Amino acid sequence: MIYKRSSALFKEAKQYIVGGVNSPVRAFSAVGGEPIFVKRAKGAYLYDEDNRKLIDYISSWGPMILGHAFEPVVKALVEATKKGTSYGIPTELETKIAKLAVEMVPHIDKIRFVNSGTEACMSAVRLARGYTGKDKIIKFAGCYHGHSDAFLIQAGSGAVTFGTPNSPGVTPGTVKDTLLAGYNNLDEVKSIIKANKDEIAAIILEPVAGNMGCIIPEESFIKGLRELCDEHDIVLIFDEVMTGFRLAKGGAQETLGIKADLVCFGKVIGGGLPVGAFAGPQHIMSHLAPEGPVYQAGTLSGNPLAMTAGYETLKYLIEHPEIYHSLEEKTKYLHTGIEKVLNKHGVEHQINRYGSMLSVHFTDEPVSDFESAAKGNNQKFKDYFHGMLKQSVYLPPSAFESYFLNDALTYEDLDYTIKALDEIAISL
Ligand code: PMP
Repeated sequence: MIYKRSSALFKEAKQYIVGGVNSPVRAFSAVGGEPIFVKRAKGAYLYDEDNRKLIDYISSWGPMILGHAFEPVVKALVEATKKGTSYGIPTELETKIAKLAVEMVPHIDKIRFVNSGTEACMSAVRLARGYTGKDKIIKFAGCYHGHSDAFLIQAGSGAVTFGTPNSPGVTPGTVKDTLLAGYNNLDEVKSIIKANKDEIAAIILEPVAGNMGCIIPEESFIKGLRELCDEHDIVLIFDEVMTGFRLAKGGAQETLGIKADLVCFGKVIGGGLPVGAFAGPQHIMSHLAPEGPVYQAGTLSGNPLAMTAGYETLKYLIEHPEIYHSLEEKTKYLHTGIEKVLNKHGVEHQINRYGSMLSVHFTDEPVSDFESAAKGNNQKFKDYFHGMLKQSVYLPPSAFESYFLNDALTYEDLDYTIKALDEIAISL
């Protein structure tokens, strides 16, 4: 049995940790089977507890854009640790990383660091509500903005339908101000705004979605959202937790050429440590405590180790901008390779790709929103995932997740992956 030790560790973990994991998707619930346990990681590879070396296409769900245990980050962290691991007092380092982020990302003057993407999105919405004095928000079906209550609502289709909570523990009251629209559906957004005149504080979206697989916004959709927000004094929030510092140094705002009013970050900005952030222009950010009345705080926010990993990662990216091009080229190469193999074996599929994000859907219809993503053949996806894992290729364990390539991946790794697919595609 190739997963013997992982299996034993999972069994033990389940005795003490709910479901054996600290974040549900890790339990392989969407693909069945048991998770692998990881012992260490270096560059593009994971080394599991059964002593297998796996090629990693998840990169810790995005943060490890430079590869695992990246030397400059590790070195800086070792030094930082010796100086103390938390002060709860301002440090120069926080200003250094803030300055760097403001330099890299367009249209932001000020930033606030938090500890996760969830906190970033939750706080950005609070700030938008405080700034506009309005209560309601629009979110899109299939976009994930962390697990704070207001975002946990089911995919609903009616333009003015109120969402119902999709998790016990989330009260209807908490989500009554969250209105749902379909991704890439501007008409639906227009009707919601019309039906809730002068009540919408913010529209929040993943500017390139990664949580229903990778989904690219249509140009008319994203431009239309910007125009609607200008027209109705709505704060446009780009949740760039996945896309920030990954698609380009300025994230999706830069690649799409669309200005957001507030931007949320996570993942890459922490270089593998728990960091989130939200940022915007001075006239909005000044409403945040202590400058303004909108409250937000954190004991470990701006933690020196987290800031060190984030700073070293952003600094490396700004000093090596060619990484973005090479990551995109590698992702394109993988895309073409997968496509060729699946076509050769007559497997119906769609591949969505944007920058270094990619997803494979087993359906013959284009995937442009949650509904079309949900049409994928899940049995085929499971066989694909487990087949590739047996070949030592670690892909996201759900069709609703995106691949995140990292800079340490080589063309040999990509060729190996394509060849591995060729070996298993016969049974798809
Ligand atoms: N927003 C997006 C777009 C995300 O992908 C995620 C996490 N995958 C979050 C917010 C929440 O971030 P975290 O898990 O760090 O709380």
